[in-house]
Amino acid sequence: MSTEKRLPVADRRQTRRAFWRAFRQEKGLVAVAFLFNALSTGAAIVAPLYLGYIVDDIAAGASMSTVDDKAVVLLASIAVSAVFTWLGTWALGMLGERISAYLRERFIDSSLALPLSVAEAGGTGDLLTRTVNDVPLVAFLFRDGLNRVAFNGMKAAAYLGAMLWLSPLLTLCLLASVPISWAGMRWYLKRARDGYLKERASEAEVSEVLTGTAEGARTTESYGLQRRRTAVAEESVGNFYRANRYTLYLRSWMFPTLDASYPLSTAAVLLLGGYLYFQGSVSLGVVATCAILSRQISYPIDSILMWIEGLQKAFAALSRVEGVLVMSEDEPEYGRPLPSEGTVEIAGAHYAYGDGPDVVSDVTMSIAAGEHLAVIGPSGAGKSTLARLVAGIDHPRAGEIRVGGTDLAEMPMSARRRLVTLVTQDNHVFHTSIRDNLRLAAPHAGDDDLKEALATVGAEWFDDMPDGLDTVVGGTERELDAAAAQHLSLARVVLADPVVVILDEATSMLNPQSARTAEQSLGQVLEGRTVIAIAHRLHTAHDADRIAVMEEGRLTEIGTHDELLEREGAYSSLWHTWLGDRAAV
Ligand code: ATP
Repeated sequence: MSTEKRLPVADRRQTRRAFWRAFRQEKGLVAVAFLFNALSTGAAIVAPLYLGYIVDDIAAGASMSTVDDKAVVLLASIAVSAVFTWLGTWALGMLGERISAYLRERFIDSSLALPLSVAEAGGTGDLLTRTVNDVPLVAFLFRDGLNRVAFNGMKAAAYLGAMLWLSPLLTLCLLASVPISWAGMRWYLKRARDGYLKERASEAEVSEVLTGTAEGARTTESYGLQRRRTAVAEESVGNFYRANRYTLYLRSWMFPTLDASYPLSTAAVLLLGGYLYFQGSVSLGVVATCAILSRQISYPIDSILMWIEGLQKAFAALSRVEGVLVMSEDEPEYGRPLPSEGTVEIAGAHYAYGDGPDVVSDVTMSIAAGEHLAVIGPSGAGKSTLARLVAGIDHPRAGEIRVGGTDLAEMPMSARRRLVTLVTQDNHVFHTSIRDNLRLAAPHAGDDDLKEALATVGAEWFDDMPDGLDTVVGGTERELDAAAAQHLSLARVVLADPVVVILDEATSMLNPQSARTAEQSLGQVLEGRTVIAIAHRLHTAHDADRIAVMEEGRLTEIGTHDELLEREGAYSSLWHTWLGDRAAV
């Protein structure tokens, strides 16, 4: 389980910045939503005020028609408020939808831009939870949560303003509920952010463990590790349960505390109001209106506080979503032009995974621009690790790797990606059109370029696609076989147009005939580029300009096919064994 190195979480300042930046995207709609909500709130305040006037009129023995006039205004204000409430809700809903769409798109872009080593270290579960749970929660924050909080906040402020205008003294009665609610909220808010962050992190851990267990079910079974996996799963579910219980405990103290505090304000208004009325300093209508407002103000405040829980959760989710965005934004722009020459120099490179032993040890070699080098060696010799180092996914613990004369470690990831492309045997076909699948490598490529790239890698199946580039692939209805998936992946290389290409057993999923065809057609495309091919078929090695042999992390032989045969070392014996096997077949 690789849960110890999670993806980063944005700090409070970064989260706040993300929040306001999202709003700035939609300034016009923010203004419209504010206007509608302000009008709705203004109209809502008229009803309690006119109720007070009616009480005063009746107390003063006014005529029925005077009371009727005020009652009409009261009713009209309720209708106007309802219309603007509807419009305000619509505007806030639109605003929320647009902001969440903006955030989703940014999140996807940033996830795709994450350095591979960071995404791997964070574990698929963490990224998955952020995508599946946190992004919708943030969308919910902008779509529903803020809607209610902004609207209710405005209402609470308007009720408070009206009370202050009518009687500052009676407004002070609202303070009667403050000590209890303030203490309750302070206690809650002090613990809530950490509580909800922990809850979400433990949720990610559960999905990480479950995904890992499902993916490795066969290995678990064959090594008899069921008990150990069950124990790990139980521990993560236990952590999730405890984190949930903790936030439930926070809520179950906060809400009853608040509910108990509100009636204290209305009781205080009635007591003091009654006293002031008999003193003759306020009218009966003012007491009635203030009593109504003191009760009414508790609804928006209660609603805001109810949403604070959701907002706490959503802000914790925003910190996690923003963590991915910040990480991919941290990269400085690469001001210089990319090296145009594909020379690769590996000098004394050492690499170890975590605290483990070196799996690449003191490797030194130079590959000329345009040279095709095959790397062979037994399983676990460090070939793929070397490929990752040259692709700049990981950096050597000691030594350096220079491409076109520039140290890869000094280049930002985006520049490394444009310079070197690594193609592995894991080819993912995204459930979308062929065009979108290919454009991942070259977002601005035209249809002709895409078709040419497919033709170059020999993807003859493309001619049978009913909707050409628009054909949706990858789903269950049109699943591409391994060979076609590999064609797509190789076509992306053609489109990405890097100076160095690393093929890590890239054609191993194809049958020998297709692999040879793909390699031959690729050969034309790769002409002029530097190619490092991790080869598991010796004919691929034979076709290369030079061959490097790796054993136990070290480079043990390097030279042309003929040179290595003459040396009669590891390559020579492998070659003769392979020839013997073929002859036997
Ligand atoms: P193969 O031909 O089987 O792919 P390889 O020559 O490409 O093998 P690598 O995959 O580079 O070898 O592995 C070299 C060593 O590093 C092996 O002992 C392997 O177990 C270890 N290793 C590879 N990936 C990781 C990882 N992510 N974490 C820890 N150890 C790893």
